[in-house]
Amino acid sequence: MSTQMIAVHLPDGAIREVPAGTTPLEIANSISPRLAAVCVAARLKPLAIPQPQECDCCCQKEADDQPAEAEMYAAGDATAPRLVDLATPLTADTRLELLTEKDPEALKVLRHSAAHVLATAVLELFPETKLGHGPATDAGFFYDFHREKPFTPEDLPLIEAKMSEVIARNEPFVQEHEPREQALAEFERDGDFMKAHFVNKFTQPGEEVSFYRNGKFVDFCRGPHLPSTGRVKAVKITNLAGAYWLGDEKNPQLQRIYGTAFFSKKDLDAHFARLEELAKRDHRLLGKQLDLFSIQELAGAGLIFWHPRGAMVRKIMEDWMREECLRRDYQLVYTPHVARVNLWQTSGHEGFYAQNMFTPMELDDAMYRMKPMNCPFHILIYKNSPKSYRDLPVRYAELGNVYRYERSGTMHGLLRVRGFTQDDAHIFCTPGQIENEVVACIDFAEAVLHTFGFKEFKVELSTWDPSDRAHYAGSDENWELATGSLRKALERKGIAYKTIPGEAAFYGPKIDIKLVDVLGRLWQLSTVQFDFNLPARFELEYVGEDGERHQPVMVHRALFGSVERFFGVLIEHYAGAFPLWLAPVQVGLVPISERHHEYARKVEAELKAAGLRVEVDDRNEKMNGKIRDFANQKTPYILVFGDKEQEANAVSVRTRGKGDQGSMPLASFIAKAKALVESQSTEL
Ligand SMILES: [Zn+2]
Ligand SMILES: [Zn+2]
Repeated sequence: MSTQMIAVHLPDGAIREVPAGTTPLEIANSISPRLAAVCVAARLKPLAIPQPQECDCCCQKEADDQPAEAEMYAAGDATAPRLVDLATPLTADTRLELLTEKDPEALKVLRHSAAHVLATAVLELFPETKLGHGPATDAGFFYDFHREKPFTPEDLPLIEAKMSEVIARNEPFVQEHEPREQALAEFERDGDFMKAHFVNKFTQPGEEVSFYRNGKFVDFCRGPHLPSTGRVKAVKITNLAGAYWLGDEKNPQLQRIYGTAFFSKKDLDAHFARLEELAKRDHRLLGKQLDLFSIQELAGAGLIFWHPRGAMVRKIMEDWMREECLRRDYQLVYTPHVARVNLWQTSGHEGFYAQNMFTPMELDDAMYRMKPMNCPFHILIYKNSPKSYRDLPVRYAELGNVYRYERSGTMHGLLRVRGFTQDDAHIFCTPGQIENEVVACIDFAEAVLHTFGFKEFKVELSTWDPSDRAHYAGSDENWELATGSLRKALERKGIAYKTIPGEAAFYGPKIDIKLVDVLGRLWQLSTVQFDFNLPARFELEYVGEDGERHQPVMVHRALFGSVERFFGVLIEHYAGAFPLWLAPVQVGLVPISERHHEYARKVEAELKAAGLRVEVDDRNEKMNGKIRDFANQKTPYILVFGDKEQEANAVSVRTRGKGDQGSMPLASFIAKAKALVESQSTEL
């Protein structure tokens, strides 16, 4: 009897000839039993993989709470890379990668396996429960259940304890197959209306249906799973919520139990510690607590009201930005908030960007629209007078308010809004000037990040896909030149970057700079973007050294990105405890009793004369209460004074995060605070 042999290509380039039916686990064992012990699942890739097509838009990713059901039940596309169990027999030539716990996809396999463990526990405790489905999500997993008597929060600890038993039993997850018609008949007989629905929807008559068994529990599922329940190392139920079956309130009400799972208790604990930290830093919460900004129901969603304290931080950010622009030879401009639809037709926004714009408004002379971008306005200023090569580069900068339509219900504090302020600039230059301009933009972006206290950033270069030529505006030559200049600029700066082919906008390549905040989160803020489209649409020109007319190169660049968003990131990065130079109130004054009020006025006057932002608390309250109030506002310095300080012309200093620093002469405190402000220090 001859066995068919198949070729298994391993990531290191080795090719193993093995009999068909060999499993990834057997291959792992043949490499090393130690490797086999830490493997979670396997990734199979067909030998010729088509390049995945990524979406080329700046849409923000929605919460991944509703993974496609098809992914869980329907038969996989055999030509696409897919994950399988370690015990899945290999039947054809393939590339094979063994997934260890470190692979990001391994966590999804773990979490989906944890959902099976949850369902096992629920059925053992409440056998009458009917099962919906239980996918992994970005944050963990859930399982939908139906029961006449809904679960109560008191049931959750019982279920969690039972899950621990299921994990301790270390039951292998075993795949089984059954003819579809037989499976349907059984589900219908048992009143499993949800499972019957999934089989009907995602499998075809005549097919075999895939099941997974662990112990006595069997679930309709295509996998993959961990080798056994014991590999679910750390799991926690997090939440219980109601939902209607298929989202229709005429249908039975389901109960969704949420949980999360990790490969170790340490990772699980770190996850909850991080969630706690994130909640404490939530800019919406801090915005209210520190009275920085609000969003007003009466005015509408996604529109930001800057309160005096938030407005002070914004003023400092904007002043810094405008001064830097002038220092770096930009010219400041101001442009309107609305323009005739004709302008948006010329710019092309009316065609390709209309769904992101506020709907037009009719005035007596024409239709108008709020501006979603500042670019056409800066272009009109450029075009207003003839330009020669001697005028270039022209750099126009504006803190411009723009309005973009976001679906209601999608807004999120300062991070996703309908009205915001871009620190926008447009550079018009000759092709020969591009590289220096890009280097200058990157320098500027670095200055922003370092000044505002971010130490780390990541850079991405988005380039075109020449095989999709028709999709892009501009000549091949321009694309080559622009992409080459971006690359050279990054290399000149010695900045490591990741190239993302095919991710460029249709009108030009770009550099994105993502900063890393104190919690390690990445935020997309600065962009340097080429544009071959608008100079052509607006027929921009300059007269060259040769006396001929040429089209200038145009670069859009924003460094904060959006002032609102950057402020939101700053609030979360600093947890509301802004560095001294940014703090809306830098020094809080606490006179111990009424007879020190006069000295308080003197201290206040001297601090103000030194340019410091001061607040006196002269309420008839206890000293400790006043100190607490300033501390709750995260005021960097609190100065306390009574008879002793008054006599010595001194103050007793409490520094945020350091506590009582004792008494010092007023003049010394002022000198120290001034120096910290001037150096934009992030330390106190
Ligand atoms: Zn499953
Ligand atoms: Zn622009």
